[in-house]
Amino acid sequence: MILKTADSKKDVFYLINKHSGVVSRAEAEILLEFLFNCEKLDLYVKEFIINKTIEELYDLLVSRRLSGEPAQYITGRAEFMGLGFIVTKDVLIPRPETEILVNEIVGARFIAPKILDLCTGSGNIAVSLAKLIPQAEIIATDISENALKIAEKNAALHQASASIKFYKGNLFNALMFAENPKFDIIVCNPPYIKEADFPFLQKEVRLEPRIALNGGKDGLDFYRDTAKESRRYLKKGGSILLEIGFGQREAVEDIFLSHNIFDVYRIIRDFSGIERAIWINLL
Ligand code: GLN
Repeated sequence: MILKTADSKKDVFYLINKHSGVVSRAEAEILLEFLFNCEKLDLYVKEFIINKTIEELYDLLVSRRLSGEPAQYITGRAEFMGLGFIVTKDVLIPRPETEILVNEIVGARFIAPKILDLCTGSGNIAVSLAKLIPQAEIIATDISENALKIAEKNAALHQASASIKFYKGNLFNALMFAENPKFDIIVCNPPYIKEADFPFLQKEVRLEPRIALNGGKDGLDFYRDTAKESRRYLKKGGSILLEIGFGQREAVEDIFLSHNIFDVYRIIRDFSGIERAIWINLL
């Protein structure tokens, strides 16, 4: 007969449940994957020794999370399109909603497209597109040198460096030294938060780079600049795919339509039914 003693061995479930009132299971798993340097599935199939040091380290990670630091910044890793990306405080944490942009482009089955990814951040969009459309030729830009370094690391991590060129600069200025910068597709998840809304953002979001979020007074600065300048960089009939913020659809449409050279081809909603992306074509 096997007798269970009072101090029976602590396991992963013990840790997952330890802070269950304050940390979700999904977040506990992310922190434990990091702690044990393993994949999520391993947590449930492998045996881990949970000693006092491990428990203390876990408690420390949880307290950082509870102080408002996003789990992805603690672990230095975020998932996007099923791929693992390196993230630091220099880049925006990729969001699941942004996968819409990638899925739309992949679903449209372009043949060997030339793609421009503006505000590449961690490189999540550019790298996923490079993996999913191997013949694509991609240019990715960002105003932040530190962000570009992370994006380059992510491209290398996923063996996508050969298909992506990186340039530093503000929006289209970054293309000054690019060879033949004419694209089939311009894609971007631009900064679109109104300046006045910053104090009301979640603590977690306020830890992300402000430059990656700030869309100016009405949140629409980037859309105006893109509408004004993109014509020079698009091939005839070329496409622009942009993420948009809650309630911005009409204003963004008006900005583009006022130029009389664009057509709004599609509006795509996210999982919550919110209009989240806009697909515009150059006539
Ligand atoms: N392209 C990155 C993303 O979608 C970063 C966007 C940004 O910095 N505004 O997450």
